[in-house]
Amino acid sequence: MADLKIWMNGKLVEQAQATLPVNSAAVFYGTNVFEGLRAYWNEQAGELYCFRLQEHFVRFRESMKMNRFTIAYSDMDLYDAVREVLKGNAVREDIHMHLVAYVTAPGMDATTPTGLYINPRRRGRLSEGGLRCCVSSWVRTSDNAIPIRLKSGANYQNGRLALLQAKADGYDAPILLTQHGHVAEGTGATFFMVRKGKLVTPPISSDILESITRATLIDAVCPDLHLEVVEREIDRTELYVADEAFFCGSGYEITPIVSIDRFPLGDGTVGPITRRLLTAYMNVVRGVDTRYAEWRMPVYRPVTV
Ligand code: PMP
Repeated sequence: MADLKIWMNGKLVEQAQATLPVNSAAVFYGTNVFEGLRAYWNEQAGELYCFRLQEHFVRFRESMKMNRFTIAYSDMDLYDAVREVLKGNAVREDIHMHLVAYVTAPGMDATTPTGLYINPRRRGRLSEGGLRCCVSSWVRTSDNAIPIRLKSGANYQNGRLALLQAKADGYDAPILLTQHGHVAEGTGATFFMVRKGKLVTPPISSDILESITRATLIDAVCPDLHLEVVEREIDRTELYVADEAFFCGSGYEITPIVSIDRFPLGDGTVGPITRRLLTAYMNVVRGVDTRYAEWRMPVYRPVTV
């Protein structure tokens, strides 16, 4: 299948033409900030819905603020750009996108000029059968060192080291602990576990990204299913005796975890609460569940933001 075109600084370009100078801060230091977005095709409505775009734009601007640079685009401009790249590629299927702002000048303290691109890509479900995870010996970088709340490519080297180690050791994915030994999250996903019928997830002060999927589960999907969620610190050994666990995120959606450090969770297969949450979440993002319409931004019949 042909590569999808990239929206770069106002134009749709071929992948090979979307290039950056090698001496830019963006290439050399990874001075960028980004968001991972998904849009879902709803066959019945004949519409492609971008999920919680507004919340992604807010977080995008928070990352830029902490990285001390800005872009010359309003939220409406960003929405138009997302629509342009999806319409320009005639996307009528589920799609993942990276929205990236970057600094083109050289130097560690460069903050301007900036550029923007949106790179759409086809990306399937991560693992329906569930991941075999390990607790990483790499520790999640702390908020005072390399904050994961600042969603910059450079800040993902910590997760990359953990992922490479996990794969070298025969696991699918790592779970990172904080420097204090409590569960933080996965490389690019929030962690939830089920214990004694309740969902438990680390607080936002546990060196995690303030995940939009996490908020969707806590504020909507779990209450709808009458599932209680507790936000609290999680100890390592709690992982081993959890009944179920999963990662969540815009990219990961809800990806079950079936074992941790080779301890099977529950009966070692995808748990029933995880399954219910996955179905309910997919119905919300696609608009099969017609509530929460304000979270689904249409591409072909736009609304005003
Ligand atoms: N943690 C990290 C480190 C991530 O990169 C992501 C993906 N953006 C998440 C959690 C999940 O966040 P969200 O639900 O907003 O996609």
